[in-house]
Amino acid sequence: MDLRYTDEEQDFRHELRSWLQSVLGDVPPEPERHDWAGRRGWDSAWQRTLFDAGYAGINWPAEFGGRGATPTEHLIFLEETERAKAPYVGMNFVGLLHAGPTLIVEATDEQKDHHLPGILKGDHVWCQGFSEPGAGSDLASLSCRAIRDGDDYIVSGQKIWTSFAHVADYCEMLVRTDTNVPKHKGISWVIMDMLTPGIDIRPLRTMEGSTEFCEMFLDEVRIPVSSRVGDENDGWRVAMTTLSFERGTAFVSEMLQTMELCRDLATLATKITRSSGVAWEDAGLRRDLGRVTAELDALWALTRRNISEATRTGLVGAGGSVFKLAYTDLRQRLGEIALHLLDRASLSLDDIGELPTGEHVQGRIHGLSMTIAAGTTQVQKNIISERLLGLPKEPRV
Ligand SMILES: Cc1cc2nc3c(=O)[nH]c(=O)nc-3n(C[C@H](O)[C@H](O)[C@H](O)COP(=O)(O)OP(=O)(O)OC[C@H]3O[C@@H](n4cnc5c(N)ncnc54)[C@H](O)[C@@H]3O)c2cc1C
Repeated sequence: MDLRYTDEEQDFRHELRSWLQSVLGDVPPEPERHDWAGRRGWDSAWQRTLFDAGYAGINWPAEFGGRGATPTEHLIFLEETERAKAPYVGMNFVGLLHAGPTLIVEATDEQKDHHLPGILKGDHVWCQGFSEPGAGSDLASLSCRAIRDGDDYIVSGQKIWTSFAHVADYCEMLVRTDTNVPKHKGISWVIMDMLTPGIDIRPLRTMEGSTEFCEMFLDEVRIPVSSRVGDENDGWRVAMTTLSFERGTAFVSEMLQTMELCRDLATLATKITRSSGVAWEDAGLRRDLGRVTAELDALWALTRRNISEATRTGLVGAGGSVFKLAYTDLRQRLGEIALHLLDRASLSLDDIGELPTGEHVQGRIHGLSMTIAAGTTQVQKNIISERLLGLPKEPRV
């Protein structure tokens, strides 16, 4: 792809930048981290603002209500919203970044008409019910059972680590519809309305002190067969589509925040004093930060390639796994650099004077989960070795 910006793209950037300037002053302060209802309202209001201005679903095709932006415009959008410190996609990430894109590729016209507008307008929050206590990396081992009863499936089982289940309206969910075939062949991808009777949601507390994810216990939950996306027992293929979107582009905004973080840390290092001067005089720190910054630049180029591929093919390929593997490792290393810079102050979760310790300590703890969420580091390595390097496949049972 041509990495230079055309005049039209520069016009798009300037138009977006001035729009952001005109609306961001009216955005209310961000709610407390654990005020889930407040956060939902805040995220949805921002999504509605984007929708009203024609920026919702920036890279979704126009025929499905998106803006139909080119890959470069998409990246400009992400750069400018990050630069302006506009709200992040927040709780709408499942709907906008992987459930919606999966529906665009796989759903029936009725399903698209019913669900896509609610996602774009911020009316409906989605969650993802894939993982189970016995099925994480080995997702195909899932046992949540769906038994056909007329026009419904009756679903019973347990899901775990379901982010924002307690505030979601819909769940993209994998269920087992056939137990008599090899495990990958008996799975279906369904949409569950979270208000259906039989769903018991229990929040889990993480080591960050957050209750953002939940266990979901399903007891004879009736899901209409018409809510299935793709054919019965073809859900594994549909799930691979979902995961490729999740790994391919869902972390891009976070990566832009991380680039900003590198700059912030460099500035902070010029202010933090050591016995012999300021921290920035430490050549080791400058080298480590410089290396991470250079790797982020390389990842930005990979991101542009992945987004370009997704636009051509409709899907992000194994390049999404390369990105996820490299980015999440890098984010953890940057977290370590931040704590090293803060030195003893990194023992405090609360800011100390003007030192933003809370943000960096939270960032380091949160970074631990990033090599696990959306497929662990080891699983990404398996995908890369099998699909890109052509190494022998893991035996499937
Ligand atoms: C922040 C966060 C948010 C999440 N949100 C959701 C959500 O909304 N919905 C949802 O469904 N799930 C969600 N998850 C769950 C996530 O998808 C799983 O945690 C992940 O797939 C790993 O599964 P597991 O935790 O069962 O670990 P396991 O699969 O039990 O893995 C344990 C260890 O074994 C390694 N391992 C496993 N298999 C192999 C192999 N074949 N080769 C080499 N090593 C292997 C793993 O890499 C890992 O180190 C979330 C997780 C996190 C951290």
